[in-house]
Amino acid sequence: MGFGAAAIGFVCEAIKKGYEIHIFERSKDVYSSSISGVRSDGKLFVSNGMGGDLYIPLEIQREVVDYYLSKLNENDRKTVKTGVSFSKNSEFFERFYSEGFEPVNSHFFHIGTDKLRGILKRIYSEFESRNVKFHFGVKVNDVIVDSDGVKVQAGDLVDTFDYVVVAVGRSGHKLVNQIIERYPELVLSDNIVDIGIRYEVPNHVVEELNEEMYEFKVKMRAKTGYTVRTFCNNPSGKVVLEEYDDFVTVNGYSNSKAETPNTNFAILCSTSFTMPFNDPVGYGSYISKLGNILAGGRKVLLQTYEDFVRCKRTKKIGRVKPTLPEGSYMLGDANLVLPRRIALSISEFIQKIGRVIPGIAYPDNLMYAVEVKFYSNKLNNERYKNLKFIGDCSGHTRSITYATAHGKMNAKRL
Ligand SMILES: Cc1cc2nc3c(=O)[nH]c(=O)nc-3n(C[C@H](O)[C@H](O)[C@H](O)COP(=O)(O)OP(=O)(O)OC[C@H]3O[C@@H](n4cnc5c(N)ncnc54)[C@H](O)[C@@H]3O)c2cc1C
Repeated sequence: MGFGAAAIGFVCEAIKKGYEIHIFERSKDVYSSSISGVRSDGKLFVSNGMGGDLYIPLEIQREVVDYYLSKLNENDRKTVKTGVSFSKNSEFFERFYSEGFEPVNSHFFHIGTDKLRGILKRIYSEFESRNVKFHFGVKVNDVIVDSDGVKVQAGDLVDTFDYVVVAVGRSGHKLVNQIIERYPELVLSDNIVDIGIRYEVPNHVVEELNEEMYEFKVKMRAKTGYTVRTFCNNPSGKVVLEEYDDFVTVNGYSNSKAETPNTNFAILCSTSFTMPFNDPVGYGSYISKLGNILAGGRKVLLQTYEDFVRCKRTKKIGRVKPTLPEGSYMLGDANLVLPRRIALSISEFIQKIGRVIPGIAYPDNLMYAVEVKFYSNKLNNERYKNLKFIGDCSGHTRSITYATAHGKMNAKRL
């Protein structure tokens, strides 16, 4: 179920074994299928420090990346930006390390949002030519394990299969919730949500970093006890709204051609809870909604760094011009929205990053609130021999490379 990164990895291996494979994808065609990250940003990483909680050998991650790159035409392959973040001989490694940061080492390949349509189409055509049957516009509502196999229900259609692989990503949480309500023993753990802001600075202040590593990832343990990290750096990129049914949050992306004078990245705090509280999605949604209420609708709050530190509403923007369109934000004070512990952690993080790269702490840099990363429950794949969960919906991956590799690894065990 689902045709995203994890399904791609799974099918690549499963085709070799001669099974009859059916894919049910709720989108109306291959161009509309969510494969959210692949379509929205398309940065591929090879790293043991990010992407999920599985151990995936680097050579398998590299195979995955090469597979995607092989689906680009020759000209587009030349425009892929690549690099290594925080190799041991990078001078930035020591500079961040000595200020208390943990620099995350990774190789990355930025394909660009605009080039992804072609990749997806080529993968689809390859699978179709090898007899994989696609059923677009079919949203699976339920999956039931019985003695004959695994029953799949999608609207009026009910069919039984020998082996079912759920690969519906985070956007398929309704189906996964339905399944775990029936089989609660599948859940290993949950209770994490990452909450923070999207930060926007002029390109020139991070030019050297962007040139050397394109995506810089650092973590730090703040005095509050929270781990704070950078995420999804977009040189010359744009800030965008991320739409949910009843609220909006903020996100960022960049195309393969430089488009704006600004770089944006997320600064996120990982929060985890203990019983009796067990609704991290509710917590993150509630904070996002509060931000929207203060911003006056389906908008986010925008504030300068200096005003955030002084707990003052921003009334005027300085030198950095927002890349999010004017109708999508309201100038305000994110301190009225972010819990104190998160706000303090973010201030400390920016202040310390400013000691390494001074321009990151310029007073008129921009903060958009709220950015939220929701996680799926971690699911147990050993519970049923013919019902498996792969990719982000399994709770074990959070990136294209990891989700695809998770799919491959599960298909190899068939
Ligand atoms: C805005 C954004 C940007 C991102 N950028 C990056 C990035 O640059 N690099 C990176 O490594 N990761 C990125 N990610 C994360 C990455 O997209 C995911 O980790 C990865 O796509 C997960 O793969 P998946 O196959 O598990 O899920 P997906 O790729 O989300 O695929 C799931 C598929 O299942 C379908 N589906 C859902 N429910 C049903 C149902 N009930 N029935 C049938 N079909 C269903 C969906 O339509 C979708 O096509 C980003 C994520 C987001 C949201």
